[in-house]
Amino acid sequence: MVQTSFSYDALPMRVRFGSGVVASLPEEVARLGARSALVLCSPEQRATGETIAGALGERSAGVLAEARMHVPIEVARRARARAAELGADACVAVGGGSAIGLGKAIALEHDLPVIAVPTTYAGSEMTTVWGLTENGRKRTGKDPRVLPASVLYDPDLTLGLPIAMSVTSGFNAVAHAVEALYAPDRSPVVSLMAEEGVRAMTRALPGVVADGGDLGARTTALYASWLCGAGLGATTMSLHHKLCHALGGTLDLPHAATHTVVLPHALAYNQPAAPEATAALARALGSDDPAGRLWNLAASLDAPRSLRELGMAEGDIEPVREQVLSAPYANPAPVTRDGVTRLLRAAWSGERPA
Ligand code: NAD
Repeated sequence: MVQTSFSYDALPMRVRFGSGVVASLPEEVARLGARSALVLCSPEQRATGETIAGALGERSAGVLAEARMHVPIEVARRARARAAELGADACVAVGGGSAIGLGKAIALEHDLPVIAVPTTYAGSEMTTVWGLTENGRKRTGKDPRVLPASVLYDPDLTLGLPIAMSVTSGFNAVAHAVEALYAPDRSPVVSLMAEEGVRAMTRALPGVVADGGDLGARTTALYASWLCGAGLGATTMSLHHKLCHALGGTLDLPHAATHTVVLPHALAYNQPAAPEATAALARALGSDDPAGRLWNLAASLDAPRSLRELGMAEGDIEPVREQVLSAPYANPAPVTRDGVTRLLRAAWSGERPA
C-alpha cells in the first residue's frame, strides 16, 4: 500500500561511487574551496591513509592515524589541535565509523568540511549523528555540520576488509535498513532505498565470504551500505539500535558483531506489529519470515549468534534491559519488561528467534 502521509528532508551531500573513484579526491577537495586536507584513519589503516594523502598531493596536510572506536574525547581534542596547527581547512576521513566519527568530532568544533571515504559498511558517512566518549560515557547528538560534504565510495578500498568484519559490518548495515522500514518518520523514498539495501547486502555477503577479493560482490555490498546508511541518516531508530547502544555502551561489546547477534531477535519482536516493513523485507529476502531468514544467513556465514560468545555475562541481561526500558521511544511493538527479557535471553544464549 502507498504510504499516505509523510515528510522527507533530503540531506545536502554529494555521493560518488565506483572502483577507482578515490583518485578524484583532489578534485573533491578543490570543489569545497579547500587547499589543505588532513587525512584521518585508524592506526591499522595507516598505509591506506598514506596512499590517500599521496593521491591528494599538495592538497594533503598530513595523516593522523589515531581514530578509535567510539571517539574518545582525548583523541578528538588532539585531532582538533593538530588540524588547527597544520592549517587544515578540510578533513578526509578514510575508514569505518571510527575514522568518520573522528572527522565529525573535528567538524563539530571547527566547522571543517569532511570528505568521507568509507571502507566498512557501518553507514556513519550518511548521518548527522556524532558521538564522543568521556570518562567511559558516550554522548551522541545530531548536528548538520558533521554531515560529510562528499562521500567517495570506492569498493577497491574494501577488498582488504577481513571477512568476519565484512559479515558483521554487513549485518550492521542491514539493521539500519530494517529499522528505517518501520521508523515513525519513514518515507517512501527511504523505504525503497532500505528494501533495496537489504536485498543487495544479503545477496552480496555470500560472495564476499567466498572470495573477499571479488570486486563484484564488494561493489554490491558497498552499494548496499550506502542505501542502508541513507536509511539510518533519514529516520529515527527503534528498539534494535537502543539495545545495541546499551550493550555497546555499558559492556563495551564489539559494535558490528552486537548488531549481527541482536538483529534477528529485535526483528522477530517487531515483525507482527510492522506488517508493511515485514512485507518489504519478505520481498527483499525471499522469505515470509525475514527474522528467521536473517538468523539462517548469519549461521551460514559463520557469524556470531550469541551475546554470550561476545563476552556478555548472563547477569548483565537485567541492567541492559533496565537501561533500554528507562527512556521511552517509538517502536512498532510495545516495549515491555517481559518482552525485552525474553529477547535478550534468546540473543544471549544464541537461540533461533521463535
Ligand atoms: P571501525 O571503524 O572501528 O573499524 C574496525 C577496524 O577495521 C579498524 O581497525 C579499522 O582500521 C579496520 N578497517 C576498516 N576498514 C578496513 C578495510 N577496508 N580493510 C582493513 N581494515 C579495515 O568499525 P565500524 O564498525 O565501521 O565503526 C564502528 C564505530 O562507528 C562505532 O564507534 C559506532 O558507534 C560508530 N558508528 C557511528 C554511526 C553514526 O551515524 N554516527 C553509524 C555507524 C557506526
